Amino acid sequence: MRKYLIIIGDGMSDYPLDELNGKTPLEIADTPNMDFIARNGMMGLARTIPEGFPPGSDVANLSILGYDPSIYYTGRGPLEALAENIPAGEGDMVFRANLVYVNDGIMIDYSGGQISNSEALKAIETLKKHMPENVDLFHGVSYRNLLVVRDTEGNVETWPPHDILGKRIEDHLPMGDREISELLRQIIQVSSEVLPGVTERANMLWPWSGGTIPDLPSFREMWGISGGVISAVDLIKGIAKGAGMEVIDVPGATGYIDTDLESKADHALKSLRRLDLIYVHVEGIDEVSHEGDAEAKIRAIEEFDERLVGRLIDRITEEMRILIMPDHSTPVPVRTHTRDPVPFAIYGIEKDDSSAFTEREAGKGVLGMVEALSLLKILIR
Ligand SMILES: [Zn+2]
Repeated sequence: MRKYLIIIGDGMSDYPLDELNGKTPLEIADTPNMDFIARNGMMGLARTIPEGFPPGSDVANLSILGYDPSIYYTGRGPLEALAENIPAGEGDMVFRANLVYVNDGIMIDYSGGQISNSEALKAIETLKKHMPENVDLFHGVSYRNLLVVRDTEGNVETWPPHDILGKRIEDHLPMGDREISELLRQIIQVSSEVLPGVTERANMLWPWSGGTIPDLPSFREMWGISGGVISAVDLIKGIAKGAGMEVIDVPGATGYIDTDLESKADHALKSLRRLDLIYVHVEGIDEVSHEGDAEAKIRAIEEFDERLVGRLIDRITEEMRILIMPDHSTPVPVRTHTRDPVPFAIYGIEKDDSSAFTEREAGKGVLGMVEALSLLKILIR
């Protein structure tokens, strides 16, 4: 029975950097294990962010798993609702709702100073009493919450609070279909009146990236195989749940560079005995990329290669196929996600002349430029 491993190093690919003498972090990092996959496999570049979509892990991972974002991407809120088992269904819209800090009409902090769970919970419990009848609030972790609007629909444009830091909120209030956008504006207004009496860290609730719960076809029906997902990130878990894949919980998975990579590898291998495909997503490299630290990124890539990829390929069998790639690029100089095509390597099909897992080698790979939606077809068929 053939087995499949998909290994995602979030935000791993980058640009040639002056500080690295024109090389990328992937080119500088010592990555014998990813290079093994590249040397014994085939490479190419994949477009994971279709035209018109925000470059993020939600859109990118949907694409890699074969779910066309133009059909199935409705927002980040609904995916997180799936992950958290929030009661929301047909006819409901789910938004992410951050506890933010605003001063003089300017967005100052998207995280309410990384507000503690207990303080955030207190804020949300108070806000609940002031919500319109058809609105439910659910506290998640720290500043992250979900807002469910029952029995509604419509198009509404919202802004992620981390994208409007230092900008006037006036110019970035929810816009679009009147009923829903006015409801959200009303919630923002009410929150700004209620919160100052409850906490000093956050003085506004900011809804964004909302939509209906996507109706993802089952992974097994689409690809004819069973699948499981290992990730510390709610978005990815939400996609997995929506797709009927098994969410494999790994103790010690933190979503940061201190995550227990060995444990992720071991759980992946163990789960492969039961399931046909395991999707391992590692967030930490993206986090250090956002911090703009090239040296830290190189180290994070090396750890990922040694502690996770190495541990996995130590035990590859003949009937195993492996796809390794980032979901999107997070270049150090821009400190945010970009739409650039990302390098990928597939082991277990045939091999080309690739010599290392780098952006440049991928650009010369035999598989060429592909849409991420077709990656699973290449891997499985
Ligand atoms: Zn990121």
